[in-house]
Amino acid sequence: EQGVTRHYVAVKMDITEQKQTHERIAYLAQHDLLTNLPNRLLFFDRVTQSLALAKRQGCPLAVLFIDLDKFKQVNDEYGHVAGDAVLRHVANVILSRVNIADTLVRYGGDEFSVLCKHTTAKEAYSVAMRICEKIAQIRIREYPQLHISASIGVAAADDSFGSVTEWIKAADSALYSAKSGGRDQVMD
Ligand code: GH3
Ligand code: MG
Repeated sequence: EQGVTRHYVAVKMDITEQKQTHERIAYLAQHDLLTNLPNRLLFFDRVTQSLALAKRQGCPLAVLFIDLDKFKQVNDEYGHVAGDAVLRHVANVILSRVNIADTLVRYGGDEFSVLCKHTTAKEAYSVAMRICEKIAQIRIREYPQLHISASIGVAAADDSFGSVTEWIKAADSALYSAKSGGRDQVMD
């Protein structure tokens, strides 16, 4: 009444949990939980940005599409737990064969994609060959009889590609050729 402040009241709320939940949701939207790799949503984002930049700077750029061969049989013969272990091994093998600046994603199911920066068609092809060989060498201690292989499609970004969709289509059709040509091989 006399204009003198006698008390202060403050209302506070700890929003740490809310913040963590938001961060987790954002992570889940862009990652695959089995391999912890980014998913295709993040891939399209990166591919679009990289293609625009590469066109401006005239840098070479390539994508690899990697699909495991007859993977349904692995699940059928060894079970889904073994199948999941294979997917994690494959993710690690590919990661060990690409550059730190490249983006590896689990595109979906048994399909992985790599965006290779500053990489020509020829270089991308040899990277793909090495990945193909390494995948065929994967052995899992718990399943010694299990052998896998992969087919890989390679497409370098080309001036004739007007859009990301055309570029991805080229990689996908190279992958299709690798599959129909007998699997366990690389096509560009
Ligand atoms: P292809 O050589 O033609 O690729 O034959 P495929 O049997 O590998 O056929 P496709 O690539 O179409 O099938 C992929 C299979 O991957 C289908 C499904 O059973 C399996 N799969 C997809 N996601 C998962 C997963 O998260 N874990 C396991 N264990 N299997 C999965
Ligand atoms: Mg497959």
